[in-house]
Amino acid sequence: MSEEKVAGNAVNFIKSIIESDLKSGKHSGIITRFPPEPNGYLHIGHAKSICLNFGLAKQYSGKCHLRFDDTNPEKEDVEYVESIMNDIKWLGFDWEENLFFASSYFDQLYDWAVQIIKDGFAYVCHQSPEDVRKYRGTAKSKGIDSPFRNRSVKENLELFEKMKNGEFKEGECMLRAKIDMSHPNVLMRDPVMYRIKHIPHHRTGNKWCIYPTYDYAHGQSDAIENITHSLCTLEFEAHRPLYEWFLEVIKPESRPRQIEFARLNLTYTVMSKRLMMTLVKDGYVNGWDDPRMPTVAGIRRRGYPPEAVKDFAERIGVAKRDSTVSIDLLEHCVRENLNKTAQRFMGVLDPLKVVISNYPDDLVEEFDAINNPENESDGKRKVPFSKTIYIEKSDFMEDPPKKFHRLAPGKEVRLRSAYYITCNEIVKDGEGNIVELHCTYDPQTRGGGSPDGRKVKGTIHWVSATHYVPVEVRLYDTLFTVENPLDREGGKTFLDYINNESLKVIKNGCAEINLKNVEPSARFQFERVGYFCVDPDTTKEKIILNRIVTLKDKWNRIQKNK
Ligand code: ATP
Ligand code: MG
Repeated sequence: MSEEKVAGNAVNFIKSIIESDLKSGKHSGIITRFPPEPNGYLHIGHAKSICLNFGLAKQYSGKCHLRFDDTNPEKEDVEYVESIMNDIKWLGFDWEENLFFASSYFDQLYDWAVQIIKDGFAYVCHQSPEDVRKYRGTAKSKGIDSPFRNRSVKENLELFEKMKNGEFKEGECMLRAKIDMSHPNVLMRDPVMYRIKHIPHHRTGNKWCIYPTYDYAHGQSDAIENITHSLCTLEFEAHRPLYEWFLEVIKPESRPRQIEFARLNLTYTVMSKRLMMTLVKDGYVNGWDDPRMPTVAGIRRRGYPPEAVKDFAERIGVAKRDSTVSIDLLEHCVRENLNKTAQRFMGVLDPLKVVISNYPDDLVEEFDAINNPENESDGKRKVPFSKTIYIEKSDFMEDPPKKFHRLAPGKEVRLRSAYYITCNEIVKDGEGNIVELHCTYDPQTRGGGSPDGRKVKGTIHWVSATHYVPVEVRLYDTLFTVENPLDREGGKTFLDYINNESLKVIKNGCAEINLKNVEPSARFQFERVGYFCVDPDTTKEKIILNRIVTLKDKWNRIQKNK
């Protein structure tokens, strides 16, 4: 992350807070944390939070902890722990020795809960979940005290111990903080601290059958780890008084501060583990790492460079109000990165055979092609040319409109880095489909220019039909047909907006022979077509490519038309 850009970010209010805390001596250094719950795969929203937390720690020479917020055993799994660590590393961040689990604090949290009971600030409540809800009241109406609210400290201690020892059934009772049932903030109306779950935990096994709630566990975990600035998304703003209440009651040595920022929403996708889970479980996509998914695993497989994701996170900055960012901006960042870094090749997705009738039958010439016009030091490569080539079907029209500058009967075009060719004859099959073109080339135009200075308007890409790599190509579009799939107009759900055309598979693509030598992790451009990468489904027999993005930059267009 470039520091000037962060510094120049007008909305980085978090940075101002940190700087003032460092200046006043409140903190001598900062510690942030990224606290995922291991109940699903990370998405781009999480990536923003990762970039923010790790980025700030880096900028202020502090630390960023990775803490798994694993207090909900029924939904959590080591599969997710591993994928999350993988994703953070892929983004280029390192928690070093600071890997933590909220479940490691269960003993300390329990002891603190006992202390809170002793201090008269918590009680065991036997209300049914239904009554808890009913008694809580609403934003407009006050709550009513639970009939168990005034149990003695002694009784509460005994009952809490029994809860821990598994002497109650799930839902039979809970530990609640004793705050104020008429508090204007509903969250402060005696919130639950512990609930009973007879479910083994992926780390603590069968040791516990009571588990702390997020509200109780989170701030205390921050305090245990000496977190200075605890950044979370806006929906936790209303929880902040509770976060502070617990710290005030427990009085740990370290006092973290919760700061909220706006969560990232993106157009044409959903960004919630729960909804993503439905997409995966119900088979709308092929797994968490489907390249159409907004997961970090998905965009990695799609071929997005991590640097582009970081650039994106930096550009959107941090705000205090929720908004939705255009997917075009994310794609723009990807394209900008790839334009600078990606090697160029020629590749034809929808091949049309062209026979160059006046080209010697067995001749093979090699042409120099520039690897990356944006980076001269990437050098050149040799591309073989022969009598039969493939061009893109869409680069030919039998009966073209006026502005069509590509190949047509009697028209001349430049074959990128090779020769000018003119189309003389169309060969059709029995059903009238064009199956082949016969063209002639002008030997004087070798390398792509003509000595008589005659101009051709169109340049098209091609692949030698005797030197190519067959490829299967997967073209992706957005997973949803509308900007906001959560729009419930007319009683619709996000599944009603699934884009049935989001994946198009091309079986008979032809790539330049040099593609044989690329690394499996390479990202490259097929000139005039788009950016691609090799999909892990690739086998010895078949190379499978993913289209990362097309070349059309909608974001630039939007900016220009503003
Ligand atoms: P989801 O709502 O997608 O299920 P979550 O908030 O439940 O996500 P957590 O594992 O609790 O997921 O999130 C870990 C961290 O990532 C939290 O600090 C959370 O605030 C942050 N985060 C989650 N979603 C976003 C988002 N869309 N934009 C920015 N930060 C996010
Ligand atoms: Mg959460």
